[in-house]
Amino acid sequence: MKLYKDYAVNTFEIIIIGAGPAGLQLSYFLKQANISHIVLERADCAGSFFTTYPPHKKLISINKVNTGFDDDDKNLRWDWNSLLSKGHNLLLKQFDQSYYPNSDNLVAYLNQFAQQHQLPVLYQCAVSMVERHQEQFLVTTAQQEQYCARLVVDATGTGKANVPDIEGIEHAHAYAEMSNDVSAFKNKRVLILGKGNSAFETADSLLQSAANIHLISPNDFNFAWVTHYPGHLRSVNQGFLDTFFLKQQNAILNGKVKWIRVNDKGTLDVEMMFSEDNDIEVNQYDAVVNCTGFSCELSYYDKAITPNRCLHGKFPELTENWESTNVPGLYFAGTNMQYNDYKKSSTPFIHGIRHNVEALSQILISKLRNTPLPSSKISAQQLYSSVCERIRKSASVWFLFGNMYDVYQNTDDGAYQCFKDIPRLVFERGEQFNQFSGYILMFSYAIPQDENERKKFSQHGFLHPVVRQYAQGEIVAERHMLEDIYSEWENLERLDNGIRAMLS
Ligand SMILES: Cc1cc2nc3c(=O)[nH]c(=O)nc-3n(C[C@H](O)[C@H](O)[C@H](O)COP(=O)(O)OP(=O)(O)OC[C@H]3O[C@@H](n4cnc5c(N)ncnc54)[C@H](O)[C@@H]3O)c2cc1C
Repeated sequence: MKLYKDYAVNTFEIIIIGAGPAGLQLSYFLKQANISHIVLERADCAGSFFTTYPPHKKLISINKVNTGFDDDDKNLRWDWNSLLSKGHNLLLKQFDQSYYPNSDNLVAYLNQFAQQHQLPVLYQCAVSMVERHQEQFLVTTAQQEQYCARLVVDATGTGKANVPDIEGIEHAHAYAEMSNDVSAFKNKRVLILGKGNSAFETADSLLQSAANIHLISPNDFNFAWVTHYPGHLRSVNQGFLDTFFLKQQNAILNGKVKWIRVNDKGTLDVEMMFSEDNDIEVNQYDAVVNCTGFSCELSYYDKAITPNRCLHGKFPELTENWESTNVPGLYFAGTNMQYNDYKKSSTPFIHGIRHNVEALSQILISKLRNTPLPSSKISAQQLYSSVCERIRKSASVWFLFGNMYDVYQNTDDGAYQCFKDIPRLVFERGEQFNQFSGYILMFSYAIPQDENERKKFSQHGFLHPVVRQYAQGEIVAERHMLEDIYSEWENLERLDNGIRAMLS
């Protein structure tokens, strides 16, 4: 291993790689806790992912400016883009008032966040190698600068566009090349590979220009309003569906593309095999656009510490603490945290990332300072009001439904030790909650098992609070608060459904 200079001067407790929303959010919390750290970012600004994506510039994360409430904590439930900070004095709505904001404004916001909080970000520092050097990680940048730390947090996102293994894929346009100027597609036949939000967003933008638009991928798509996963097809991108179901010359196909070849007319022949009956057809298109998703990069790790991957190599494989399963001391933050609750809640989006990253910061601080996870003690009399306060306001247990808990642990003197924002897997696997007695609060879409209780809930289930009681590690009772059609959770007396009695 070659050391380019005396790396002792560049030694930190933590190195964060990447200054996207996750890297910035983590740096904010580490700075608050006086943890020495640095953020290495390859681009010349923070949030650079959003300078390219989405190419049509319209974010699918909600920015609800008018909520009728002036409580900053509560308002975070309807603000999917702002990062967490004390006093919430820097919010995306100061940069953009649209319900679906413009991605350039998000970039401006993220850079202001980094600047205002004086986060230690070094721009134009692309990490080219991460190695182990004794008990430390040694991180080298493309400029041959070297940095050393006990822990590394990789917050480099999933910005690597997938290129499917299809003969002739080089003839396809990349999703990143698309823009709101669709004049080049006037009167053309266009095939879009993929059926996620990027494919539908691209199809929507082409409606005004193309003659035919076909979408193809092997399987059907899921609606976010059915699965509650914000990465599934969002209604903001569903304009194209109308044109398919109302027979406006567009199609949605289930099948695999085998090859793409340039024909004698200079257009493209595309062979596709349909999923339903394995039928093979060759269709002609003027253009093909590749919208088949993204994965993590992680090409800069030394062979000896290459992190294990999962889910077809798309994401790093993680422990309950978001630590690599095979590289101790290497953690992941941001969209790369999603292995632990894949497609189950809001983890890959900023409104999930910010709360997961706050929880990660507590885990890291507790490891570095050898302290327990933060908690506060409350009396048995305070338990119900404490739970109600969180039901009314908390954005973390709300967005990370089923995967983020508030934990109220019995103490010997009949009081409770209250831990906010404990990831489900930390609760289930962590030693601290072994043989747990007490209560947890979470939000859930799942309606109760009990026949009589089920009747009180809507058939599909709306997001609602659930309190579970544990004794010696076993679940002994569970109550679901009734659904609030306004999702405001103000009048809890009316919705209580036995929670007060359970906690008293
Ligand atoms: C097409 C698309 C649209 C999306 N739209 C939304 C949306 O509207 N709202 C939303 O909340 N989420 C959206 N997402 C999810 C989005 O990716 C995440 O919310 C967000 O970008 C994740 O933040 P992050 O910090 O984990 O990663 P990123 O934002 O990707 O940040 C990673 C950072 O790491 C840097 N980096 C990478 N490699 C290196 C290296 N070797 N050395 C140094 N720095 C490096 C990058 O330059 C980048 O700045 C979208 C995703 C896709 C694919």
